[in-house]
Amino acid sequence: MGDRYFPDQSNQEQVREQSKILDDFSNEHGLTFVEMDAHGKLRYCYQCSLIKPDRSHHCSSCGFCVVKFDHHCPWINKCVSYRNYKYFLLYLFYGTTFLVFELITSLEVLIRFGLSDNIMRDLDDFIPVAVSILIHIGFSYYPLGELLIYHARLVWDNETTCEQAKPPLIR
Ligand SMILES: [Zn+2]
Ligand SMILES: [Zn+2]
Repeated sequence: MGDRYFPDQSNQEQVREQSKILDDFSNEHGLTFVEMDAHGKLRYCYQCSLIKPDRSHHCSSCGFCVVKFDHHCPWINKCVSYRNYKYFLLYLFYGTTFLVFELITSLEVLIRFGLSDNIMRDLDDFIPVAVSILIHIGFSYYPLGELLIYHARLVWDNETTCEQAKPPLIR
């Protein structure tokens, strides 16, 4: 209603009629859906005026229904979904690999510092590397490595972030 969302206030009779309209439409057009809403009828998007295909969700930031919606990413200002999920995974994988490479190649300085016979002299070389490693562990591992592990599990289960938060109702 306007720009504001109002919860569906249809009574049971209205829900039955809506359900029949949606079922008739999908049968007429030979469309098959297995996902349903909380009332047990086909999912309908009032903003887009269409029956939501299975696994799709309306993104309020993009303003349309998105197929295999995972999440809306504010960094790329669009949805991570069916078409770009592979690139999102690759980004996480390459980012994490680079982080691991960076940490492994920094080990030399840590080992040299540990074996040093004059710690005060080597402190100037050690501090920038140590600070850099801490920053990378703090800011890179959490968004990249953690997300990679999380999404690897989602891929294994054939699930999206959205479906994990709110499992779909199958009829
Ligand atoms: Zn929609
Ligand atoms: Zn979006």
